[in-house]
Amino acid sequence: MARLLDSLAEVGCRKLGCKSSASLARHHKGHQAMWLGPWTRQLDIPRYANFVRRYQEFRDEDVVMLCTLHHAEIHHIYDSIIAKHKESLGGRRLYRYTWSQAHELMKLLEAECDVWLGTVTLGYSPTKLDLDRVTKKRRENKLKRRLKKR
Ligand SMILES: [Zn+2]
Ligand SMILES: [Zn+2]
Repeated sequence: MARLLDSLAEVGCRKLGCKSSASLARHHKGHQAMWLGPWTRQLDIPRYANFVRRYQEFRDEDVVMLCTLHHAEIHHIYDSIIAKHKESLGGRRLYRYTWSQAHELMKLLEAECDVWLGTVTLGYSPTKLDLDRVTKKRRENKLKRRLKKR
């Protein structure tokens, strides 16, 4: 296993033109990990068990090697695609998604990733991505509290 990881690291970030020496991460193009939380309670459903198993296999067709800067950038892009998709379903929460809605969203993310991989961009700060998410959560909670008061 260590040998396999070594050879993967030699390949480097797959993003076009990237010369970053930042550390690498295996990125699931469909952001499959976002379904691991909301659906945990459905672990007994064979379809879900298969989904988790496949995620853990890190198959070549599912993952791509990215440096931390480009990994943060694609997730920054994903965040807005996911937000738009939830909105298009009337503000649906991920745990309320059906399988077909989840697959539709994963396909969108994968397609976006494939196009993005072929373009040259600078990447995004992982710290800033975390901050963006904290700010967004705060804003959402504030809105929720305001709605509750009514
Ligand atoms: Zn990722
Ligand atoms: Zn990179």
